[in-house]
Amino acid sequence: MKLILLGPPGAGKGTQAETLAKRRGLVQLSTGEMLRAAVKAGTEIGRKAEAIMKSGGLVPDDVVIGIISDRIAEPDCANGFILDGFPRTLKQAAALDQLLDSKGTILDAVIELKVDDDALLARIENRARETIAAGGTPRADDNAEALKTRLMAYYKETSPLIGYYFAQGKLQTIDGMAPIAEVGRQIDALLAA
Ligand code: AMP
Repeated sequence: MKLILLGPPGAGKGTQAETLAKRRGLVQLSTGEMLRAAVKAGTEIGRKAEAIMKSGGLVPDDVVIGIISDRIAEPDCANGFILDGFPRTLKQAAALDQLLDSKGTILDAVIELKVDDDALLARIENRARETIAAGGTPRADDNAEALKTRLMAYYKETSPLIGYYFAQGKLQTIDGMAPIAEVGRQIDALLAA
């Protein structure tokens, strides 16, 4: 099964992708996580991406398309995967379609997590607080200023994907404001249907 979780920053894509991947034996593919690992490791991609990510902007399409194309080719992805944070632009979506087509496969569903914008800042601030409480370092982009840029990027570049996948008959929308477990149940229910 090949799925996309779509939604603004703080919608719960990462949380849901992680538990869904465990329930279904799928691989979670988060370009944000991969980029953060590249920044930490100080690779060339990481060096290019660091400042862009910190400000909340989008890393260039060719960089993320390259990362995903390499990752999807690895054997553990053969059983299926959940994309969380990719695609984020129409160009990335078209590249993904081409990539899957070249492997003779297709996307099964695109699940949009719909949330109130007003709740997003509180969720992001809470995520930063929880990370600090657990002894970790919060993400460099989990603050009000970067969130504003990330939200703008979402509405400008990513939200057109809702129409793109609706037109493909792949879009399913669920209420991302429900409690975490309930969102998980809704996702399971629509995948079972
Ligand atoms: P995320 O963890 O999905 O919130 O991603 C964190 C940051 O990584 C984003 O704000 C972007 O700067 C960058 N990023 C992650 N995925 C993509 C993508 N598909 N296209 C462009 N930039 C991305």
